[in-house]
Amino acid sequence: MLSATPLASAQRSDYTIRTGTSEETTVYVREADADGPTVMVVGGMHGDEANGYTAAQKIANWRIDAGKLVVLPEANVKAIQIDSRTCNGTDLNRQFPTGSEPTTALAREIWNVVVSENIDFLFDLHSSYGIYSSDDGGVGQGIFSTRAGDATGHRKQLVSYLNENYVSDSTYDYSGYSSSDGSSPMLKHKVGADLDTGAIIFEATRKNGRPLSQQVRETTAAVQEFLQRFGLIHETVSYSQDVIAANTAEDTNAKQSGLRFDIANTFGQDVRITDLEIDPHNSAIDQLRDHSYGEGQWVSELFIDADVQNGVTDINNGVSLPCSIDLDWDGHSTDASNDAILSPGSFGTVSLYEFKSNGSPVDMVGENVEITIDYTLSDGASGSRTFMLLL
Ligand SMILES: [Zn+2]
Repeated sequence: MLSATPLASAQRSDYTIRTGTSEETTVYVREADADGPTVMVVGGMHGDEANGYTAAQKIANWRIDAGKLVVLPEANVKAIQIDSRTCNGTDLNRQFPTGSEPTTALAREIWNVVVSENIDFLFDLHSSYGIYSSDDGGVGQGIFSTRAGDATGHRKQLVSYLNENYVSDSTYDYSGYSSSDGSSPMLKHKVGADLDTGAIIFEATRKNGRPLSQQVRETTAAVQEFLQRFGLIHETVSYSQDVIAANTAEDTNAKQSGLRFDIANTFGQDVRITDLEIDPHNSAIDQLRDHSYGEGQWVSELFIDADVQNGVTDINNGVSLPCSIDLDWDGHSTDASNDAILSPGSFGTVSLYEFKSNGSPVDMVGENVEITIDYTLSDGASGSRTFMLLL
């Protein structure tokens, strides 16, 4: 279910728990060269909460700059397989009593990961069917922290961050609280009470048909923001997991053969995007080629809508994939070649068009594309960021 990752193999040490049983599931471990704290992310404790395991699967692919990231995306594989909160009536997130052994073999092995990885913080990812504080029976979209560690401060900061940047309808504003550690046999409570370690249960809401993609976007944004604040991810050009495959107005076919996604400049200075590498994991997708002489979104192979300067590259006869595009020189018309420049804190929208296989447009839904962005900063430093577009 997970796609291949751009990480160097030295950074990975994945293993399984409940090995050889029907509950077997993978723990993904990413360790950076630089020292830093260890954060664990769990998804799929409840098998009917797709947000939890979908977001955690994405996070399992993230690259980190410092410390260690331990991700268990599918804690309860059997519950996920039957799309049920519980398996055989057992709620996995009620098997973690404070001060004594977890009450099932699966819960004990999960707890063993928590202890043996010596974590400094835990995120447990879920979704709710309710609206927070609406008396509809669901806990709603909320962030719930331990009293242990500095989890309360992180919770408040993440609530503000999400409501300011990701929630446009206040009906869905995030909220939450800290409860007494150990007051319930949940994993979060046991982490707080037994280890005196910070933990957060994150709940996105799926009420009113709120799309899974939106739940996942909010969830991954919160975890990314946390990892940045906690020191695992440094200031960077970031990608917020929001890719869409578009059937553009340029197309008369029904194929969603263009891609659009946002990048953010989280440096405190201008970022200049100089090169962009595009590597579809499906090798049958072999060309990027628009079909217009115009210059801009969907009429150039690459267009980045950015606040200081738009980036555009319009390449005669397209380019073979995988490729690396130098934004200020496309080998065809220098008039249509510009680096993109983003001011501090701003977003840029990247549009790529049109993905083809053997000359025909490709529907990109379900495809994975690895993107690497090379950039320079106002102070002369440069760097690159690689991430996966998971469609
Ligand atoms: Zn849940």
